[in-house]
Amino acid sequence: MRPYEELIVDIPNYPKPGVVFKDLTPAFADADAFAAMVDDLAAHFADHGITKVVGAEARGFIVGAAVALRLGAGFVPCRKPGKLPRTVLRESYALEYGTDVLEIHADALTSDDVVLIVDDLVATGGTTTAMVRLVRASGARLVGFGFVVELAFLDPRAVIAAETDAEVFSLV
Ligand code: IMP
Repeated sequence: MRPYEELIVDIPNYPKPGVVFKDLTPAFADADAFAAMVDDLAAHFADHGITKVVGAEARGFIVGAAVALRLGAGFVPCRKPGKLPRTVLRESYALEYGTDVLEIHADALTSDDVVLIVDDLVATGGTTTAMVRLVRASGARLVGFGFVVELAFLDPRAVIAAETDAEVFSLV
């Protein structure tokens, strides 16, 4: 068992009744677990020529920036509307009730970039789909996805496969 696995905690009925939330903060807080998580994701993509890691706020920043550092890549944040100061690309995506929007700086990626999308957890794949579309709109080449946790029972791989054939790799 990898050191982060036992530090991912199930929180029943959060953020609402019937939902079991995976709390990764104990795994982030443990030095060995956090290092193992970042190393395991980075090792999988070490030979992919990644130039940029893209992650969405907020927990995608924690894992994504660390993986970028390990890969010798830059980090590009996707943010909620109005947080980025310069010209942005924007993409709306479906939530369980309603929609949300993610933005990326329009000049953050170029056609020379080889991109890895990183997030702490993929559930329905809605957030990931928005990031795929932002990367595509920027002209960069998306080669993979690295997730700490994949909620396989929600089948996010089918949602991602409808957008791209880039490789999906999840630790847990
Ligand atoms: P999706 O868009 O349904 O795939 O949800 C994934 C996004 O929601 C990620 O950015 C996660 O950080 C967040 N998220 C959804 N469920 C959980 C959870 O159980 N634990 C931690 N984050 C979650």
